[in-house]
Amino acid sequence: MISSSSFLLVKFVEGKGQIVRDCPGTKNHICCGYKTVDLVEGCILSCSYCILRCYLNHKEIRILKDLEYVISQIKDAIRKESKHILRFGTGELSDSLALDRKYKLNIPLIEIFGNERKAIFELKSKWASIDHLLPFLNKYTVVSFSLAPQRIIETEEKRTSPLLKRLITLKKAIDRGCYVGLHFDPIIIYPGFEKDYEDMVDEISKVIDLKKVIWVSLGTLRFPKDLYEVFLEERRTNLLYGEFIRGEDGKYRYLKKERVRVYKLTYGLLKEKEKDLFIYLCMERPEVWEEVTGERLQTNEDLITKFDNRIKSLYGGSI
Ligand code: SF4
Repeated sequence: MISSSSFLLVKFVEGKGQIVRDCPGTKNHICCGYKTVDLVEGCILSCSYCILRCYLNHKEIRILKDLEYVISQIKDAIRKESKHILRFGTGELSDSLALDRKYKLNIPLIEIFGNERKAIFELKSKWASIDHLLPFLNKYTVVSFSLAPQRIIETEEKRTSPLLKRLITLKKAIDRGCYVGLHFDPIIIYPGFEKDYEDMVDEISKVIDLKKVIWVSLGTLRFPKDLYEVFLEERRTNLLYGEFIRGEDGKYRYLKKERVRVYKLTYGLLKEKEKDLFIYLCMERPEVWEEVTGERLQTNEDLITKFDNRIKSLYGGSI
């Protein structure tokens, strides 16, 4: 067990093995077929609920020093895929932007995707710093932020950027011609969260043009047993509120009826603002999908095809 606050040292390491991987997914849950790019492992932002606190077995932040190694794997994956429009992201084992102003890791990748024009590169973050990237951005890069009510940012995401700053940064990316993504993940249930989400959706719609949002993900809080023990020790009342069930993957989640309630609430708030928003559930069961959206998705392939159609509808023949 490590705590994320111990990610203090940065170490540059050789690239070994597979850096570009399929998102591991969860049995009996619908996965969106995302490709993760493990360019950086570890994060300085130290969110209290971050799974990296018990997932990584090293105490330093590791950055791959050989970008060419990563780029060749990305190009290989794009070349091998004939059926779908691939989506890649660096925000799985780290935050895509937290260290980027200092180390400038994303610029070569943004350029590669802009040259290839066949796939999407997503920067997923809670750190509102993209000014250094603005001259390089092109529409094949999607700038995404995980969003939460300011109350949660102040208690559980203390080192990250405030909500308004994240939204203003998304607007900058839109003004540069990019589509942006929103991730309501993890949605945390606490007394009064419903009103906070209502206010947050209002604020989002005032700052950014929702027609420029390529996708919104909804995912509720989930965590492994080790993290549950940390929450108890740290008396994380926000994170322990409500009832949990342990799933087949060993992770704790809110009960299904609660997850459905939360999704219906947030889905409804968003659709009220912009009926054409593309909203998906992150790692959910087919029956939950159906209850929330009315759609019958049975397999990962069904969701991946939905993503293909969404991207084609926005990019037309330019991808
Ligand atoms: S920003 Fe993401 S990767 Fe970084 S600590 Fe928070 S949850 Fe973990």
